[in-house]
Amino acid sequence: MSTLLGRRARPFLPAVRTLHERVRFCSRCASVWEARSGQDGERAAERVCPACGMGVLLSASSDALPGEGAAFVIATDDLRVSAVSKAAERLFGVPEPELIGTRLLRLMTSPEGDDELALRVSRAAYGTRAVRPIQIRLLLGQRPAFARLDARIASCGPPRGALVALEPLAASLP
Ligand SMILES: [Zn+2]
Repeated sequence: MSTLLGRRARPFLPAVRTLHERVRFCSRCASVWEARSGQDGERAAERVCPACGMGVLLSASSDALPGEGAAFVIATDDLRVSAVSKAAERLFGVPEPELIGTRLLRLMTSPEGDDELALRVSRAAYGTRAVRPIQIRLLLGQRPAFARLDARIASCGPPRGALVALEPLAASLP
């Protein structure tokens, strides 16, 4: 029997993922890879995205991301935006450089309460392993302000931050 059959050598992640696996994803184009076991820590310093050459590769729980090319924002523990994916940039209608450093609560609000949103984001930025869903409304962009989106909040890094991933829009349209 070939030992190759038993090894997982998939370069790209299939649509169905195993829960609680770690994945690596690009902070910019949101390409997703399986995390390589082993030397991940040592490789963390040099990790420009091979797909777009612009973003850095970050690690997160596989259930934190809705999929390839996802719309997401990464925030620091003081709730400021540190990265915006291309898809989220389109959603907000504002280029990423203008969003960096902005307070997250200027980009989105939550019907569950901004305090709750802030709490979940700061917990994720401090490294909690939980992936927490929350409903949000965008405060920027062309979508009507009343439209609710499902978001997932999870820890990512390094450097450690909170990943706020928005579910694919098609799923949330009325
Ligand atoms: Zn990329």
